[in-house]
Amino acid sequence: MKTAVLGGGISGLSAGYYILRRFGKPFTIYEASPRVGGWIRSEWHKNQGFFFESGPRTIRPKGLPGANTLELVEELQLPIKPIPSSHASARNRMLYAKNQICMLPNSPKGLVSVVPPFSKPLYRALIHDLTTADSVVAKNQDESIYSFVQRRFGKEIADYAISPMICGICAGDAREISVRFLMESIFEHEQKYGGVLKGLLYSRFNDKYNALKDKIQVESNLYKRACKEKWAMYSLEDGLEQLPRSLRKYLTERNVNVQLNSKCHNLRFNGADKAVMSFKNTDVPVSHVVSSLPAYQLAQLTKAQHPSLSAQLLSIPYVDVVVVNLQYDNDQLLKHNGFGLLVPPVENLPVLGIIFDSCCFDMAGNTVITVMMGGHWFDKWFGQQPPPSQKELRDVAQQQVRRILGIMEDPKFSRVHTLHKCIPQYTVGHKRRVQGIREYIKSYKLPLSLCGAAYDGVGINDVILSARNQVDNLLEI
Ligand SMILES: Cc1cc2nc3c(=O)[nH]c(=O)nc-3n(C[C@H](O)[C@H](O)[C@H](O)COP(=O)(O)OP(=O)(O)OC[C@H]3O[C@@H](n4cnc5c(N)ncnc54)[C@H](O)[C@@H]3O)c2cc1C
Repeated sequence: MKTAVLGGGISGLSAGYYILRRFGKPFTIYEASPRVGGWIRSEWHKNQGFFFESGPRTIRPKGLPGANTLELVEELQLPIKPIPSSHASARNRMLYAKNQICMLPNSPKGLVSVVPPFSKPLYRALIHDLTTADSVVAKNQDESIYSFVQRRFGKEIADYAISPMICGICAGDAREISVRFLMESIFEHEQKYGGVLKGLLYSRFNDKYNALKDKIQVESNLYKRACKEKWAMYSLEDGLEQLPRSLRKYLTERNVNVQLNSKCHNLRFNGADKAVMSFKNTDVPVSHVVSSLPAYQLAQLTKAQHPSLSAQLLSIPYVDVVVVNLQYDNDQLLKHNGFGLLVPPVENLPVLGIIFDSCCFDMAGNTVITVMMGGHWFDKWFGQQPPPSQKELRDVAQQQVRRILGIMEDPKFSRVHTLHKCIPQYTVGHKRRVQGIREYIKSYKLPLSLCGAAYDGVGINDVILSARNQVDNLLEI
């Protein structure tokens, strides 16, 4: 009997890659749908020279998680499209607030002047942090990012800087998202030094932090190149879907069976070294399961035998996102150059943000933008019965594009995707919740490892590293 992987998204395929690298034996990855990649989906229109991404579009090369992904990308020999930090799309971040597009400051000069939508110079928020007493929450207790930032930097920063940023990261509401999980180092700065700025200053001179930097084991020439050329982010020549596609090819060429159209319906365990996965027509016994499934999916599979585990998995909430890709023949439509803009939730608009794809990458004379809508507020805007049609969703997106960007013409081509339960929400207490889930698995000695976006981080780098860590742990059992 052998190990099996559930899910052929990027985390399941990465788990497969690391299992192969460590154990070198054949095994199977079971994927419910007819394709690999999960939420990563690129659509090329080669004749017209543009592409759409309906899920992720860029990866950051920074830190250990970034270096780890670049090592994988290098092994797969994928052609990279880097964006250097000097590029407008890396430097210019915008908000749409108070009926205008506001360029966020990207130099120290911006700290001393009043930059809309803020009513005071941003240095005042820093003074607020320096002069605010230590944490009012009990030691090590979690709190929402919104309340943390409001306490330390004031309400305006919480509303106009942090809340839209959380929309950009996980389409979530900063009033619910855990500061301890998503901004752990900042949270720890307050816990240790009594303030975020104080912590940042101390840690600059603190050997422990510098030593941590040196600990990153760089196996990748690509990572060295990324550091030297100061990449801020990157994509791949044929869009990000090239990553899971190439990974699948790499694995199958090395005798790993990637079985599509294979939805697992039930998972039961029989002792510490036996699991039985049930598919439509067959039961498959294995000695260990690495699950990369969304937590709510795994909850379904384990409900009959482990209802308590299932309930804990279900307590990780997910949100729905509407992604509308729009293409226009004219490349002079965007009046601002940058990555795109975010819309603070206080503006009470159905849109989370608009990405300027054709500013980030060459789109051969086309303007390409992507409108993200819904997220935490999906039900409020789109929850009616019957659900809105694709045309209705596209109309809402276009209305917002007219209002925010002043683009009056109709797009030449568009695509609408409603991504149900696509982003897990790391709400207050997430770290403890995940610990509880993993402790349950350990205490019942279940031959089960968990990776994927539900647990250890929401970005592509995080899920690949999560897969690697889980497979590293396999060596010890
Ligand atoms: C709109 C959007 C934009 C994003 N933008 C970025 C970005 O720019 N940069 C970034 O780094 N990250 C971004 N992310 C996050 C990133 O895409 C995800 O973290 C990552 O793709 C999650 O991969 P995964 O393998 O963990 O999960 P998934 O992609 O959900 O894969 C899980 C797989 O399991 C399969 N499955 C489910 N149930 C079963 C079953 N019962 N049996 C067998 N198989 C099953 C599914 O079909 C799926 O293929 C974005 C996400 C979204 C939704």
